[in-house]
Amino acid sequence: MKSTRLCLSCGNPFVPLPHVPRQRYCSSKACQRARRRDWQNHRLRIDDDYRDNQARAQAKWRASHSSYWREYRAAHPAYRERNRGMQRLRNSRRNFEPIANMDVTVSPQPLGSGFYVLCDAHEAGVANMNAWTVHIAVLSAPTAPPI
Ligand SMILES: [Zn+2]
Repeated sequence: MKSTRLCLSCGNPFVPLPHVPRQRYCSSKACQRARRRDWQNHRLRIDDDYRDNQARAQAKWRASHSSYWREYRAAHPAYRERNRGMQRLRNSRRNFEPIANMDVTVSPQPLGSGFYVLCDAHEAGVANMNAWTVHIAVLSAPTAPPI
């Protein structure tokens, strides 16, 4: 008699495939998607290289599909309005200026497009800091004030 077990995603009983003895998710499309999502979330938590590669791949995709979100927002007005509403709410919860801040500090060395390591300023002095690898595509730069 075949043994059944309970799917980690939907909880329904299923019979493991003969070639996957340690199967923990049933074969339904949704549960296989959940399995891949869980695997990726686990990987992102434990594997610095994987996290770094994912960040680079996503940055590369965004760089080569720079109009994707602009077009998505144009085609989905409800999504755009919801985002605007949520941003307004976040802005109103803050006690300081909105995100679009024109008071930009102009550094003598202009910031170029490329990969940067981004970390929380409060954690910058801590040895084991949380850092993100980010890709910055400079679209426009502040003009330097006359010296
Ligand atoms: Zn399932």
